[in-house]
Amino acid sequence: MNEKIQQNEFPNLPARLAGLGELAENLWWSWNPAARMIFKSLNRQAWKESGHNPDKMLKELPVEVLQQAAGNADYLRNYDVVLSQFKKYMETRGCPLLDNVPDGVQTAIAYLSAEYGLHRSLPFYAGGLGFLAGDYIKECSDLNVPLVAIGFMYPQGYLLQRMREDGWQENITDTLDRDAAPISRVLSDDGNQLVVKVPLIEPPIHVALWKVAVGRVCLYLMDTDSEINEPWNREITARLYIGDIEQRLRQEIVLGIGGAEILDVLGIKHSVLHLNEGHAAFAILERIRDRVQGGMTFEEAFDQVRNTSVFTTHTPVPAGHDVFPFYLMEKYFNSYWPALGIDRDRFLQMGVHPGESQSGFNMTAFAIKASAYHNAVSKKHAEVSQHMWQSLWPDVPVDNVPIDYVTNGVHVPTWLEPKMMLLFNKYFVPGWLEDHDNPVIWELIEKIPDDDLWKTHYWLKIKLIDAIRERSRLRWAKDRANSSTVLAGGALLDPSILTIGFARRFATYKRSDLIFYDTERLKRLLNDRWRPIQIIFAGKAHPADDPGKRILQRIFNDSRNPDMGGRIAFVEDYGEQLAQYLVHGVDVWLNNPLPSMEASGTSGMKAALNGVPQLSIMDGWWMEGYNGKNGWALGHEEVGGNRDQHDAAEIYRLLEEEIIPLYYNVSEEGVPLGWVKVMKESIKSNAAKFSARRMVKEYIQKYYAMAVKSI
Ligand SMILES: *Cc1c(COP(=O)(O)O)cnc(C)c1O
Repeated sequence: MNEKIQQNEFPNLPARLAGLGELAENLWWSWNPAARMIFKSLNRQAWKESGHNPDKMLKELPVEVLQQAAGNADYLRNYDVVLSQFKKYMETRGCPLLDNVPDGVQTAIAYLSAEYGLHRSLPFYAGGLGFLAGDYIKECSDLNVPLVAIGFMYPQGYLLQRMREDGWQENITDTLDRDAAPISRVLSDDGNQLVVKVPLIEPPIHVALWKVAVGRVCLYLMDTDSEINEPWNREITARLYIGDIEQRLRQEIVLGIGGAEILDVLGIKHSVLHLNEGHAAFAILERIRDRVQGGMTFEEAFDQVRNTSVFTTHTPVPAGHDVFPFYLMEKYFNSYWPALGIDRDRFLQMGVHPGESQSGFNMTAFAIKASAYHNAVSKKHAEVSQHMWQSLWPDVPVDNVPIDYVTNGVHVPTWLEPKMMLLFNKYFVPGWLEDHDNPVIWELIEKIPDDDLWKTHYWLKIKLIDAIRERSRLRWAKDRANSSTVLAGGALLDPSILTIGFARRFATYKRSDLIFYDTERLKRLLNDRWRPIQIIFAGKAHPADDPGKRILQRIFNDSRNPDMGGRIAFVEDYGEQLAQYLVHGVDVWLNNPLPSMEASGTSGMKAALNGVPQLSIMDGWWMEGYNGKNGWALGHEEVGGNRDQHDAAEIYRLLEEEIIPLYYNVSEEGVPLGWVKVMKESIKSNAAKFSARRMVKEYIQKYYAMAVKSI
């Protein structure tokens, strides 16, 4: 793509360091430790204060600091190496995995998602779906997949979580400074920011366009907060997942129809469309309309579009699928169906879920009907989805309902902690990172001496606790938070204690407070004189989710209760950065949702990769991950009666009988040898299998390569 963009400018940069500006404008640095060091070593304090955002840092650093670096031979050597690696990376082209396509076929893949979790400096995510999309496009960059991504620029994506003194969650809106973020304006020929009108939708909506360079992949972001729009339309992309149904419909119109129009305006020919969840499904309509305008009948166009569309569903909860009332669909689409060459009834019929035809236009039902390739995100989730959507195939037995799966994975260079990576570099083979989806590579973990692995892990635990204490200190010193709030934030944590991590959105089905089920039994575990445990919680409740906020309040209040011994911490404002610390530094990753509600889950994969074993219910990815040696599993079978009581009792039992004794059984040198064995098993059995590299290759082989052939 060679559209014009307006790069951020860094007037303070000396010519010798001009490449820092280039590096700052491409998120490649975020998954390359050496590139991060290039920024960090300019000035550690400024790096920290910028929120690890090189754009912001380079704008704010005094010119003397930069000039000093430009005269420092050590710094320049590292800088030159990183810059040349970056250039080499960017120059490499061609994806061998997609080489077998017929001549003349455009192979670009358009990827649409309502959220992207890429880095702490870009607040365009709410949770797992976003990180999946972010990791996906990073891996596509590494594998050279010709993919173009589209999403939203949410200036108010940040909802800072603050706990009130009564334990109720408050949200503070923090607006993104677009000019100090690693994003660029896409420009039109007249030099102003490119603005595109969403076609055929009345009243009109305009979107201004931004671009994020994610290695070799371009991510285009749509922004309706522009003067050309009516005030009520400016809010469309202000924040994620708006509650109001009409505004939400307009948001999805912008994502799907606007997104497809953007590709057209930029001249990006794509042969495959990949929808990451149903929010973007209207893009299918634009692809059909385009072909109908070109002379095809609706049926021909529909078939061709269907055969080249991939749809990934992520939601095993019926209420999680968007359904728009028919009257709203009519309001916005009345000039649209004529352009498709069909009438109103035919149009609305496309979104009917036969199981519940009265409810409205179901985005998932539509996306499934209009895509030849549709998949769930774990084996278990595929089974759940087959039941959910069976009514779309009334003549097919449920086991044969054609919903396939590609289990999620995580981007290894993003989530593997750099110190761990250095340790692996020392004992693995050269070039191992390039081959990290090969399970054999990970057998080399056995070469790492137990005490080396343990020391590295222990160091990461200290780092986690230091970071949490620093947050508490700032709440105390800057915000004047009261002392119990500061203690609840983790000021009393102790790195020598078995540390359980629990971090996820506070949706009720995640049962975040399950471990409090039997408070007396929990207190005994926390306060054990010789072998105590501590638990670190983090996570936000959706602003409209009061039941979720009540669970959070309970945990927060318990963390301030002296009976819990200062062994429970609730750390505010879970996001990408805190997630990094947690998945690297805790000893055990706890996950106990109500089974079949977790489509996959990815945070546990991040922990497993860093040698943090799971204590998890059998659901989502753990059904495929657990092998009896690499962590602990509960809820193997269906239980009648009180499910919470049963699952909580299993958690206590596993802790009391297996996990705690194993952790505290240490050698003379203080290394828990049995524990390290589980850590090694966790890395060895999960790292390759749940890597984004394995995942992206599966999407290519199963879907993209097939779809490209049906052009
Ligand atoms: C990985 C990640 C998630 C997704 O985790 P789940 O296991 O699906 O809960 C959510 N938030 C952040 C910040 C993450 O890094």
